[in-house]
Amino acid sequence: MKTKKIPLYAKILIGMALGLIWGLSNSALGLTGFTHNWIKPFGTIFINSLKLIAVPLIIVSLVDGVSNLSDVSKLSRIGGKTIGLYMFTTVLAISIGLVLVNIIEPGKLLSAERRDSLHKNFASDLKQSITAAHSTHDAGPLQPLVNIVPDNFFNAASDNTNMLQIIFFSILFGVAMILANKEKVQPVKSFFDGANAVILSIVDIIMRYAPIGVFALLASLSIDLELMKALSVYSLNVVLGLAIMMFAVYPTLLKFFTKVKYKEFIRGILPAQILAFSTSSSAATLPVTMDCAEKNLGISEEVSSFVLPLGATINMDGTSIHQGVSAVFIAQAFGIDLTLGQQLTILMTAVLASIGAAAVPGAGIIMLIIVLESVGLDPAGLALILAVDRPLDMLRTAVNITGDSAVASIVATSENELNIATANDPTTNINKD
Ligand code: ASP
Repeated sequence: MKTKKIPLYAKILIGMALGLIWGLSNSALGLTGFTHNWIKPFGTIFINSLKLIAVPLIIVSLVDGVSNLSDVSKLSRIGGKTIGLYMFTTVLAISIGLVLVNIIEPGKLLSAERRDSLHKNFASDLKQSITAAHSTHDAGPLQPLVNIVPDNFFNAASDNTNMLQIIFFSILFGVAMILANKEKVQPVKSFFDGANAVILSIVDIIMRYAPIGVFALLASLSIDLELMKALSVYSLNVVLGLAIMMFAVYPTLLKFFTKVKYKEFIRGILPAQILAFSTSSSAATLPVTMDCAEKNLGISEEVSSFVLPLGATINMDGTSIHQGVSAVFIAQAFGIDLTLGQQLTILMTAVLASIGAAAVPGAGIIMLIIVLESVGLDPAGLALILAVDRPLDMLRTAVNITGDSAVASIVATSENELNIATANDPTTNINKD
């Protein structure tokens, strides 16, 4: 008799649960050294393999997707909608964060002793981040625009943080394919079609390894429960904001603008959410987010290949909430009352910061330095929240990729590029075994 196989997504969930248990009991059992030497490397291998495929995936699928468009005006229409929706959700996210932190006021609950000890323990970790943030900040106002256009393709492709440059080149290449002589372009088109199929199949191969990778990543995280307790009201404030985004804002948007049922949407992108949670990187998760969007949600490649890589780089709703809450929390902890004008400055700088933040672990914290400085707060105040940044980063990254996928569903619906009928049951597709 044939026994029923456990679907891959269930195995990933089991890996996640076991990893969390291992990670939390690690030091109590005296297994920190063992975990570091014998378990952590498997997590690193997993993240490396996801990152390895990210740049080829963006190039191949974006060129393929753009060159499939019937004309260039469709691309600019999709682009306009995408960027408009990304801005809208980002501003909404920061506003939710700001409203919550002003109501809950977690910074006022932190005792002076706790604040001083956090300050002492984490101040030294900050120097590097402050230098990194300043190098971004010192550039002129149009520098972000300049940065999008690479001066060398290979330099751009050799660094995973240059995603916007890769996106720029791929769109240019795809547009040129639409404009060039059809007959001559045909072999190039066939090449990208085939390469796309190969890359997607590599993603499937990597995902088979996901349960072990996710286990190893979570098992080797060191989370200090003691410190989490001290910062629990602040952490809960961030989590509440993230939950509002996830369980109120996205379902409402999807209900109004699509026919997608939220339960099915979540079921479809669950593997990507778990990966985002385990890796804390939207960029590393991108290959799986795209796979889930196309296969499980029925979003066309034309839309997903454009909307999702762009979203991984510029749309970070989870990060935005975190920026708003954290900036005001730090001000409250130092006994500074921010005026409405200052809070609006936070809103504006946080929009830019979340756009500018790289889709990698801890990027949000670096950009927060710019937000703090915009209202004259000492960036050393970050020391107060560094201790709990990793778990919050895991959660906000999961929200980041959920926001990207929700916008992709809306854009696809409006373009008639969402075909629920072709969407597979998640338990039989990317999650298949
Ligand atoms: N880790 C986040 C991401 O990759 C960015 C951040 O908020 O730090 O989406």
